[in-house]
Amino acid sequence: MALQETRLIFKHIDEEGYTNDIDCYVKNGGYEQLKKAVTMKPEDICAEVLTSGVRGRGGAGFPAGMKWKFLDRKSGKPIYLVCNADESEPGTFKDRQIIHQDPHQLIEGMMCAAFAIQAKLAFIYIRGEFFQGYKILERAIEEAREKNFLGDNILGSGYSCDIIVHRGAGAYICGEETGLIESLEGFRANPRIKPPYFPAALGAYQCPTIVNNVETLCDVKHIIEMGGEGFAKIGTPGNTGTRIWCVSGHVQKPGYYEFACSDVTLGQLIYDVCGGLKPGRKLKAVIPGGSSAKILRADERFTGKLKDGTEFDWGIEDIPMDFDSLAAVGSMSGSGGVIVMDDTTDMVEALANINYFYAHESCGQCTPCREGVPWMRKVTQRMVDGEAREEDADLLKSIADQIAGRTICAFGEAASWPVQSFIAKFKDEFVEKAKEQAARRKEGQEVAKE
Ligand code: NAD
Ligand code: SF4
Repeated sequence: MALQETRLIFKHIDEEGYTNDIDCYVKNGGYEQLKKAVTMKPEDICAEVLTSGVRGRGGAGFPAGMKWKFLDRKSGKPIYLVCNADESEPGTFKDRQIIHQDPHQLIEGMMCAAFAIQAKLAFIYIRGEFFQGYKILERAIEEAREKNFLGDNILGSGYSCDIIVHRGAGAYICGEETGLIESLEGFRANPRIKPPYFPAALGAYQCPTIVNNVETLCDVKHIIEMGGEGFAKIGTPGNTGTRIWCVSGHVQKPGYYEFACSDVTLGQLIYDVCGGLKPGRKLKAVIPGGSSAKILRADERFTGKLKDGTEFDWGIEDIPMDFDSLAAVGSMSGSGGVIVMDDTTDMVEALANINYFYAHESCGQCTPCREGVPWMRKVTQRMVDGEAREEDADLLKSIADQIAGRTICAFGEAASWPVQSFIAKFKDEFVEKAKEQAARRKEGQEVAKE
């Protein structure tokens, strides 16, 4: 029997009416949490979010309540809230779904968060390609404004805040929060150096700004409803609430699935939830958290200790799907994009595909990333084209090692980790391919001589 999902954010995702009808949302309890929020003290809402332990769903998993605590409230400058809806991580497609199917849930979550941090204005920075999502949000915001769920003197509370939807500039780096802020301000999305100044201190227009992911902001609504402690009861300590897993690749039923954190293992997700692999195929590898996450080999044994000291000895299928377990096996849950690969996968081609993406998306600001990432792409491309050199696997590792940790933003790591982990775990395939291609070239030369 298929495992039961715990649908919190996706509760109404398959129901008709939520996309274009605020009345449908209101009829089913929508905006009740905003009504409750505006009667609470803003600092009490912040405390509930901290108690809930909710961690950022955009990829980094930073505790949202802690981020809000870092907000510079003493500067006297206006505070801004930004919803990061620039979802671009390969393998990730959950935020788009929320926006398309239940936009008012996001708007309600945002207004609760805006009230909690006393934001003067809120923005939704939506990926440029999500044109339909943009139209849906524009309409939903208009509906919400008409009913005074946002705008002036919201529900008679004396608090005023509006939402502006800003379409992204069509680049992956626009989703990096400081690149996003630059883009929002009308500049090229060049990420800013952080630390020392995180957006919570100096963000949009040099004012304190909270940037949260779509799913995280939806969680705020549910935290107000069930209280921080109630929310923390879902999942496990340190891994609270639900997570939406976007499963793609070689499974029978790819799609999005929501489970309480730690409630499902990677094996259950692949075999029980997604119907397993195609008949006769074997699992080869999984990237568990979007293309930047390190790849896991199907025949690996993962041993070690979790944060709480618990020892583990897992095969790939035993890994609980949560932040800490995936970090403990050397990868990450990232943005929830689970990419499944069966034994037909050519690892060189898979890495070449990933490298192509990152080489296209580097903003070019820092030398190791600007020069190194296209270089890695060039190397994997020549391997795909039959021109591999024997030293290419080592060369790839060496380039990646010289990028990671030497760049302005996390893109350097995002582009290096796949290369480092593919080479660490599948080096034999890279070396074998180079040897085969060298032999074939030699044979071709000899035939040509004859
Ligand atoms: P990060 O760890 O630098 O920061 C995470 C968040 O915590 C940020 O909002 C940051 O401002 C805040 N923060 C951290 N330390 C702070 C402090 N001392 N004071 C105040 N705030 C602090 O990570 P990041 O660079 O924001 O994100 C990287 C992640 O983004 C990657 O792990 C990747 O999974 C993910 N990602 C997601 C997508 C997507 O489409 N969802 C796309 C690309 C990357
Ligand atoms: Fe730009 Fe890459 Fe440097 Fe990030 S690491 S700032 S994407 S050049």
